[in-house]
Amino acid sequence: PPAAVEADDTPAVELDGVTKRYGDAVAVDDVTLGVREGEFFTLVGPSGCGKTTTLRLIAGFEEPTAGTVRFGGESVAGVPPEDRDVGVVFQNYALFPHMSVGENVAYGLNFADPPGGVTRDERVAELLDLVDLPDAADRDPESLSGGQQQRVAMARALAPGPDVLLLDEPMSALDARLRERLRVQVRRIQSELGITTVYVTHDQEEALAISDRVAVMSDGAPEQVAPPRTVYREPATRFVAEFVGDNNVFAGRVADVEEGDRDGGGEGGDGGDRDGGDPRTVGVDVDGETLRVAVATDRDTPAVGDGLTFCVRPEYLRIGGGESRVRATVESAEFLGETTRVTLAWGGRDLLVRTRDPLSGEVVVGFEPEDAHVIDVDRA
Ligand code: ATP
Repeated sequence: PPAAVEADDTPAVELDGVTKRYGDAVAVDDVTLGVREGEFFTLVGPSGCGKTTTLRLIAGFEEPTAGTVRFGGESVAGVPPEDRDVGVVFQNYALFPHMSVGENVAYGLNFADPPGGVTRDERVAELLDLVDLPDAADRDPESLSGGQQQRVAMARALAPGPDVLLLDEPMSALDARLRERLRVQVRRIQSELGITTVYVTHDQEEALAISDRVAVMSDGAPEQVAPPRTVYREPATRFVAEFVGDNNVFAGRVADVEEGDRDGGGEGGDGGDRDGGDPRTVGVDVDGETLRVAVATDRDTPAVGDGLTFCVRPEYLRIGGGESRVRATVESAEFLGETTRVTLAWGGRDLLVRTRDPLSGEVVVGFEPEDAHVIDVDRA
């Protein structure tokens, strides 16, 4: 991370034990998290998990039932949205149809002077440049594509120079191709301004593509807050493993524990290594097969008889190979262009694999122990 982030670790936006109830329904459940200065932070999760409510609490459209929202370390309790220095863009861009594009952007300046001592017109031109619509000022919003309209909505939200940008599913009304293009532009605009941004989406792929960090939410609270790679490669819970991308999740019982390589593990600053050497792989009985799984040394060491849940991403399942292997039957295949996503039946479960070559019939499929990620150990 950049040095500036290390130097001052007061989060730009912070939720501290925040709960929001509507009657008996708990929309946001005791959430504590911090968004760093300049960070692109995404709330992702299925419908109803509390993403929008969390964003509305940050914006000030809602006040928490319990807990505190802070900006730069200061509580914003009771501070109305227009005094929070936030720019907000919603799903339905809602540009004013009777105003030109330029007038729409200028509307963002009705409640605040343009920053940097420029005139309103200069500021509008700056913003239209930023969102890559330099010649659109006199156009009618309805003559623009959905993606262009959404960029105008961003320009309007950014016009007063807010400290924080809040985006609630800004692309969900657009088709898939346009969404992919727009997310690159949104990220570029955000990076150019270095503005702290909180983004809401239900689209996990979009979340991985666009964010510095992601909060994967379920039932009103994040299950994991981490960079996209970590969320993908090392999901903290079964929910995260299954919500983010394709995954193969296995649950079984530990059948044996194998000591690790003591010489190999001790060097390289792996401080958790004790004298006796940590167990490195465990055999897990899953539906009558023993599958070997590497256990990270920073985890509690599983013992024989413990329940263990682990996952293997489809791209780590290999046809014909792998130390842990099973026989499975090809059930269906979807040709995706670059790869084919194949569903295999193994016992009563489905395994997802990605391959380049067509598959059929019975296959051996396997993985290396270190390509499995342990999600949970349940002590016997
Ligand atoms: P979606 O992606 O469908 O918008 P979300 O993750 O943004 O979902 P929220 O809109 O924050 O979820 O809603 C979280 C929960 O709180 C839901 O069960 C919802 O029905 C409830 N809820 C949200 N706003 C209100 C409200 N004003 N009154 C009553 N219940 C509400």
